Amino acid sequence: MKIEDIQSFVPPVRTLMGPGPSDVHPRVLQAMARPTIGHLDPAFVDMMDELKVLLQYAFQTQNALTLPVSAPGSAGMETCFVNLVEPGDKVVVCQNGVFGGRMKENVERCGGIPVMVEDEWGTAVDANKLEEALKANPDTKIVAFVHAETSTGVQSDAKTLCEIARRYDCLTIVDTVTSLAGTPVKVDEWQIDAVYSGSQKCLSCTPGLSPVSFSERAVEKIKGRKSKVQSWFLDLNLVIGYWGSGVKRTYHHTAPINALYGLHEALIMLKEEGLENAWARHEKNHQTFSAGIEAMGLSIRVKETDRLPPLNAINVPEGVDEAEVRKRLLSEYNLEIGAGLGSLAGRIWRIGLMGYASNMKNVWYCLGAMKTILSDMGVAIN
Ligand SMILES: *Cc1c(COP(=O)(O)O)cnc(C)c1O
Repeated sequence: MKIEDIQSFVPPVRTLMGPGPSDVHPRVLQAMARPTIGHLDPAFVDMMDELKVLLQYAFQTQNALTLPVSAPGSAGMETCFVNLVEPGDKVVVCQNGVFGGRMKENVERCGGIPVMVEDEWGTAVDANKLEEALKANPDTKIVAFVHAETSTGVQSDAKTLCEIARRYDCLTIVDTVTSLAGTPVKVDEWQIDAVYSGSQKCLSCTPGLSPVSFSERAVEKIKGRKSKVQSWFLDLNLVIGYWGSGVKRTYHHTAPINALYGLHEALIMLKEEGLENAWARHEKNHQTFSAGIEAMGLSIRVKETDRLPPLNAINVPEGVDEAEVRKRLLSEYNLEIGAGLGSLAGRIWRIGLMGYASNMKNVWYCLGAMKTILSDMGVAIN
């Protein structure tokens, strides 16, 4: 590549129905194009206060320590682990997909001791197994699990898992990257202690921000740590100096100003629609899409009670080159869907109906495109 040939990048217009990012609403993109101001400008500080209130609404929490981490969902995950896990802490990690595996990595890197509770990929976390693990490991400090496994299209019963953790006097870390705004997440009612999400899934914002929230109990543990948090950037004791309420805000890092305008607008749109309505919309579009998939003679990987409305795992029919289908969807329909990961690679497609992209037009567009391509490839489609 010669540098003289390089010009402005103009991306193709796609419909994003993969595991994230999802389509970003034009209002969010417009908000991001507004003038950049300083990260300590009083006008910006007012917007930060509003962002906190909007995030508390999305998470259904009164937690004072609620803020967007200036980095993607993975950094939100890491923020929870580095702040809460001290060297030697035993952490029960429930794993039923890719992201539970990353939680284990996080525990180890914090010097914690992971105790794994494993369930087959494509099934929900088994609450009985969690309880057995806690009985067998009474010194456990934290329970961590993924509410919505984007790698498999499974939703676990976060309320019950948190209840069990609480009974064994454990703090909880819950991944809600794909569930927030797409299916009920009730941080206070379920007594979740540390929760993280991502801007680019059901919030329909651009990637790169990770909303997090911490309970009083979690804050107590963070403040009472014996050792320093091993990450300077993610140490909440320092971040609070910039994001905390009632403090004179001081420089920690330069906030991603325009990205935060975008998140603010995305959350305003969520407020306008109403959280319950957003959950209901995701559910309805998921139901229609699933019915269409089954009517075509295709099948869904996950049993009905465990399905995650924002992410549909579709079994690849016998003998079909799944990558070829995705390639044709992208080139002929400008439509992006996702491939399977890990043990489900080559065996499923992951089709997202997240945020702004969760609408009836996309449901029918994707069903129609898949029907045409699969029929063309010789698959018997009803
Ligand atoms: C997407 C996702 C993440 C990671 O988020 P990034 O923004 O890609 O870092 C973590 N957990 C789950 C369940 C996800 O779906």
